[in-house]
Formats: sequence, C-alpha cells, structure tokens
Amino acid sequence: MADDADRRKPPHRERRAAPRPARPSRPPGESGAARHFAQSYAEARDKFFVAARSRGLGVETHVHPLTGRDGEMLAMDVARDGELAAPSLLVVSSACHGVEGFCGSGVQVALLGDTGFHDEAAAAGVAVLYIHGLNPHGFSWWRRTTNENVDLNRNFRDFAAAPPANAHYEELAALIVPETWPPDAATAAALDAFVAEHGERALQQAISGGQYAHPRGLFYGGNEPTWSHATLRQVLHRHGARCERLAWIDLHTGLGPSGHGERIFACRDDATALARAKRWWGDVTSFYDGSSTSAVLTGLMFNAAYEEAPQAEYTGIALEYGTLPQNEVTLALRADQWLENHPDTDDATRAEIKRRLRDAFYVDSDEWKEKIVAQGVDAARGALRGLGAPPTPAANDRRAAG
Ligand SMILES: [Zn+2]
Repeated sequence: MADDADRRKPPHRERRAAPRPARPSRPPGESGAARHFAQSYAEARDKFFVAARSRGLGVETHVHPLTGRDGEMLAMDVARDGELAAPSLLVVSSACHGVEGFCGSGVQVALLGDTGFHDEAAAAGVAVLYIHGLNPHGFSWWRRTTNENVDLNRNFRDFAAAPPANAHYEELAALIVPETWPPDAATAAALDAFVAEHGERALQQAISGGQYAHPRGLFYGGNEPTWSHATLRQVLHRHGARCERLAWIDLHTGLGPSGHGERIFACRDDATALARAKRWWGDVTSFYDGSSTSAVLTGLMFNAAYEEAPQAEYTGIALEYGTLPQNEVTLALRADQWLENHPDTDDATRAEIKRRLRDAFYVDSDEWKEKIVAQGVDAARGALRGLGAPPTPAANDRRAAG
C-alpha cells in the first residue's frame, strides 16, 4: 500500500500542492475562535501540541509510516487530562475523515484551552482523551480517505464475514467515479435517471452507505484493518479498558446546513443508549430511525469502543458540521477520487480539485468557526454532565446492546 501511495504521489507533487501561506489578516494571538484553527496539518498539529503543553499534558505520538504533503511527519497524537483509573472517560477525536480534521482539530484546541471546561471535568471525575489526527495522512494530503483509499468510518467491520452488500453502488460505480472528469453528458443523464426512479436519498445511500468491492471508488471500507484502524484500537484499549462509562464525540464535517452541528447517534441500535444520548445532548438524530441526514452506514468506527472497552457503558455521537450543499460536497469527492485514479493530471486541474475538496469540508471563515467551537464545547459539556451523573437504575443497559 505504501508503495502504491508513493507512486501516485511523487515528491514533486508535494511542492506543487503546498498549502497557501497563512493570511496576513490573521496575526498570531488574534482573539476569537479562528485562532484555534490551522491552514495545514502541520500547523494544526503544532497548535494541538502547544495547547496540550499549556494544560501541562504530555502527548503520546503514534507515528504513521508515510510522510505528509510538505514532507512532514504524520501521527495520531493523544493527550489525556485525567487519571487512567478515572471512572468516566470522554473521548474527543478529529480527522477520522482526513481533511475534516481542519474543523475537528480546531475544536480540540479550543477545548484544551478552556479552563472552565477542564475544571468541570475534574469536578465530575471525568478524564478527557483527545485523539488528534485519527487519519493524519488524509488530513495532510487533503483527502477524506486514508492512504489505503479507505473510508475509516466504514473500516470497522468483521473481516471474517462476507462484506455488506451495496447493490446500488455496484450499479452506479462507473458513473460515480467515471473515466473522464468532468463527467460527460451520458454519465450525468444516467445518474439523473437513477434519481428520477429511486430518489435523491437512494443515491446518497448508494454513494455514502459504504462499499467493499471498488478499491478505487468512493466510501470504500477496505477488506482489512487500515493503519488508523489498528492504531486507534491500541489507543482505545490502553485508555478505555478501565473506565465504567465511556463517551465519545467524533468530529466530522460535510453534511447538513452550513455551520450547524448535527449530533448523530453513534452507538449500536439500542433504545436505552439512544435515550441516554438524548438526555445528555438533547436533539440527537439517528440513521436507525431515519431522523438523521446521514444514510444508513456500515463498518462504523464506534464498534471499536464496544470491543476495546467491553466493560464500559458506551455512549457516542458523531458531531457532524455542515459546510456546503450536499451536491457540491459529493461532486468534490467524486472529482477527488477521479484525480486519485489519474495521477498524471495537469497541475492546474489538480490544484482546482484539491482546493474544491478542502472547501467542501472546511469553511475557512471566522463566523463558521465561532459556530463550530460553540457547539463543540456545548456537546463536550453535555457529555460531562451525563458522565458525571450518578448511574441510573438502567445503568447496566449496555448488555441490551448485545
Ligand atoms: Zn466525516
């Protein structure tokens, strides 16, 4: 896999694709939420380290075997505030989907700098675990997938079993990522015909539900654990194996209205866990009952929480922030996968596709960042209240999750 990635991305491409320098209108030390956000993976990682050190926290670094687009080291970095023996643990993670880490990292850095939040956590007996850069390769290279072209949030399935089927993806694979870009008229017409027959929601389900048969396609879940998968399991096992209650807020972007953070239930299909999530976080949506803007997904990352911390009562959400309209996000993803499959594409086209991809997952405006941080802090506080509350009579409900 590493060889493939190297061949697709020769070193001279790294220079051509280097991010723009930070804007001069954003001096260091500026006020407001925007100061927590970065313009490159390396800058985001620096901000995370500075914020962790300011809290007096060490950082546990899991080095990725490949380098980033600026030649920088890639890693999954972990900072923990609170004892390993704490009865409750809140995990806050970023960059499951690579490029979405620009948003998630900003929320983590904001939380690390929020003294009031950490005082509340300590008072509630809750340890907080920040996992920065779940998929650092995608973060650095502005891709949603890992270096294996795998959607990390479809990669946590039982590999001994037959992969989940996705018949509509099978039918549409050559249209979703066509041989030529932009798509020709026949491709566009065929997708329109599918929508006319089955509806927009069916197209979203086909594309984003997850598929395991097209390694050069979109939302490919892979047929073995990726580096990020294996590394995350180690981290969850080390940090989560002793707590009684485990909460997880996994930060995402690219779905829903711009700046709105949808709290999507990220547990097994269990009514008691859903009721608990709603008590903690209020308006929680679920794709099990169709209330979420998300399609029904397979191979989700939260499976690792049940498996690596089986003793804990687990409650989790994906906090999914809207960016651009969904058709623009999907077009950006299709173009980016086409580019990945055509590494000899000219520089101008490459730069345009990469810029469009990042814009689809990161709204680089102060207003958007203010909204993102406010909702992120609010969700983290909701988890503290839930984790710190005395166990309810139904506290052993995790057994119902099966
Ligand atoms: Zn995501």
